[in-house]
Amino acid sequence: MKSHARVVVIGGGVVGCSVLYHLTKFGWTDVVLVERSELTSGSTWHAAGGMHTINGDPNVAKLQKYTVELYKEIEDYSGQDIGLHMTSGMMLAATKDRFDWMKSILAKGRYMGLEAELLTPKEAHDLMPLIDPDQFVGAVFDPVEGHLDPYGTTHAYAKSAKKNGAEIYLHTKVEDLAQREDGSWRVLTNKGEIIAEHVVNCGGLWAREVGRMVGLELPVLAMEHMYLITEDMPEVIEFNQTRGKELMHCVDFDGEIYLRQERNGMLMGTYEKACRPWSPLTTPWDFGHELLEEDIERITPELEVGFRHFPAFNKAGIKKIINGPFTFSPDGNPLVGPVRGMTNFWSACAVMAGFSQGGGVGLALANWMIHGDPGFDVFAMDVARYGDFATLGYTNAKVRENYSRRFSIRYPNEELPAGRPLLTTPIYDRLKAAGAVFGASYGLEQPLWFAPAGVEDHFSWRRSTDFETVGAEAKAVRESVGLMETSGFAKYAVKGRGAEAFLDRLLACRMPATGRMTLAPMLKADGKLIGDFTLAKLGEGDFLLIGSGIAEDYHMRWFEAHVPKDGSVTLEALNLGLVGLAIAGPNAREVLGKLTHKDLSTPAFPFMAVRRMDLGMAPAIVGRVSYTGDLGYEIWMKPQYQRYLYDLILDAGKEFGIRLFGLRALNALRLEKSYGSWSREYRPLYGPMEARLDRFVALDKATDFIGKAAARSERESGGTLRLCTFILKATDADVIGDEPISLDGVLRGWVTSGGYAHAAGVSVAIGYVPKDLADVTEGWSVELLGEMLPARLQRVPLFDPSGAKMRK
Ligand SMILES: Cc1cc2nc3c(=O)[nH]c(=O)nc-3n(C[C@H](O)[C@H](O)[C@H](O)COP(=O)(O)OP(=O)(O)OC[C@H]3O[C@@H](n4cnc5c(N)ncnc54)[C@H](O)[C@@H]3O)c2cc1C
Repeated sequence: MKSHARVVVIGGGVVGCSVLYHLTKFGWTDVVLVERSELTSGSTWHAAGGMHTINGDPNVAKLQKYTVELYKEIEDYSGQDIGLHMTSGMMLAATKDRFDWMKSILAKGRYMGLEAELLTPKEAHDLMPLIDPDQFVGAVFDPVEGHLDPYGTTHAYAKSAKKNGAEIYLHTKVEDLAQREDGSWRVLTNKGEIIAEHVVNCGGLWAREVGRMVGLELPVLAMEHMYLITEDMPEVIEFNQTRGKELMHCVDFDGEIYLRQERNGMLMGTYEKACRPWSPLTTPWDFGHELLEEDIERITPELEVGFRHFPAFNKAGIKKIINGPFTFSPDGNPLVGPVRGMTNFWSACAVMAGFSQGGGVGLALANWMIHGDPGFDVFAMDVARYGDFATLGYTNAKVRENYSRRFSIRYPNEELPAGRPLLTTPIYDRLKAAGAVFGASYGLEQPLWFAPAGVEDHFSWRRSTDFETVGAEAKAVRESVGLMETSGFAKYAVKGRGAEAFLDRLLACRMPATGRMTLAPMLKADGKLIGDFTLAKLGEGDFLLIGSGIAEDYHMRWFEAHVPKDGSVTLEALNLGLVGLAIAGPNAREVLGKLTHKDLSTPAFPFMAVRRMDLGMAPAIVGRVSYTGDLGYEIWMKPQYQRYLYDLILDAGKEFGIRLFGLRALNALRLEKSYGSWSREYRPLYGPMEARLDRFVALDKATDFIGKAAARSERESGGTLRLCTFILKATDADVIGDEPISLDGVLRGWVTSGGYAHAAGVSVAIGYVPKDLADVTEGWSVELLGEMLPARLQRVPLFDPSGAKMRK
């Protein structure tokens, strides 16, 4: 065994072997993999081996496509048979709602080049005679689907990596990890010690335990999962003989069933409602190549539907039932990337679909380790999308919910209940009493809208029960004044003698003067957006940075990687140590004026000014800015003052008819200004010109900020895309995101977000199209729920295009 290696990968499942292979493929060959038993000794060996490209998140789908396309390469390179069966597949819908959902997935896939197509039940039956067509309303055919041999595939990755120079140590268990002063790792195994520059946690079923070796509680939990294999079925044999091919894969969402051919019979698996976590507290180290006890009772309700939908199963004998554990994160996506607060400790775990995603995970992680960037937009898989709130208990609640809903529809307005409420602000009960319907984001309960008594969200693809009320909230802002809670934003205090220079290098904007704010794009070295903030200078060496709440850990990881190590800067994510309220609308100044003696006139307190001021008896930070695009103020306070200020503002606003508004009304309002938001319009895929944030990029400032050279060349070339706003002829549904945009019938772009702009009275979509088309106003259409909706490109914001109102 080597005593030193550049990288030690812990775990020889499909994911660890893929990471190892990709590292060697990109030139890091001084790498080793340490496996406690034989390769595949975790969840990998008993997997059903199914894989496909379709995924609700286009960025994840891209990596799944890569994974599937990689298999021929590793088979050829290693000479190891991986038992690849590209059978194609179909997703079946038994209800209209489900079919609507499938159409939206299909539309999303279209601009990525996925060649799926819609089928009638009869067409589906012709392709896959085991289904009862009367049970379904339609299907989607996916040509790129199949299954493989999990053992062969894992060994193909391993052999390819070895061919490139990697070493693999079997029966070698990592028992502890310790970081040395120089940042390198002591990897302590039962066979001796390896000093490594980097450690990768691919521990699969034991990833949580490997995390605990370095003091981490990773949000990952294993669930029991069962599938059955039938005896030979005459229907299968006949199909194979007459058609000369295998039966294709099926996912029957309403039956919560998946199936595929296995030899001359079938394999049927289910994500049962009565699900069960496995080893919820600690995974036993002596678990290996054994299966869990089968428990047919637990999956009987799903099997009954499955047998009804696929009648041939009623006559088939069951040869075997497999019950094995595999891991999930709270949202079901992997946990990939560098772990915040640690040097060179990498995560590649919670990969629940190792055969659809393992290749993409290996590719992204190897890119990240070698080049400092994953090379794709992997936020949906980033280990940093969870903060401290994702405790063992939270993870348990969310993973069980996620597992049992794996094949359930999630409507765009549906908020899932497990693990809630967890984080609340001091005014939570007051908001609730006022009718707030909450959504949880980064663990925090935030008001989405304020429902009249007796009205609640009806989950739907179409406009729903909140439509009128959200409209009234948005109009109240435009006509008079509204109040909303803003505690969900991430807030960072950046202080110290080095703070100004640090932020000047980190952010692409010009630094504001004391008492001023600015919008602050943050770029990566390749010039793509990695954040968008409001930066407020409160005093010399005293800055407040406001950004997206869901990206708090993600951004802190980036800040910490760049902050000077000489103690000249202190950096703190304030989280709920600073909470917020915002007022907006033409009467906002009148309301605020009742709470302070300070001069709020525009010359004294102009747009983008920021001041510490007492409101009533409470100290606060007030910024003159509003994401509604109207005259407005963001007010930040310590949590112990929030209830007081909330009551005070509502009282002061009474004479103006002040109305509470939630995130849905805010969305409607920002659409009227074509304001983008992090994770929708602003992602590491787009440059600032493309995202129309270019005016905040100060190429002429002296500081060589991160991404400056790339931003300069983007400005010269103009980039390739442009963010545009469209007005749609929609009747009863609005876009959500990822719908395709066409010009004269030709696919040209995709929607990033949208909705109904209530005050303007139109349906809006924001999205990216090629820059050369950004001035074409007519001929556009957006595909929504299977319909092509005519669209017009809106060149200027719908509300206050000159910005006069917010500056007044
Ligand atoms: C019944 C069932 C059916 C499934 N069907 C499919 C399917 O059809 N398609 C699909 O894509 N996925 C399927 N899966 C999921 C799939 O199995 C997983 O996504 C995949 O196996 C995850 O691989 P991994 O490498 O992350 O983890 P694992 O396979 O658990 O590998 C982790 C490895 O790390 C080793 N290890 C852990 N700790 C240490 C240590 N301290 N020192 C040394 N070694 C260590 C373990 O011994 C193990 O070999 C199924 C799972 C089950 C249970």
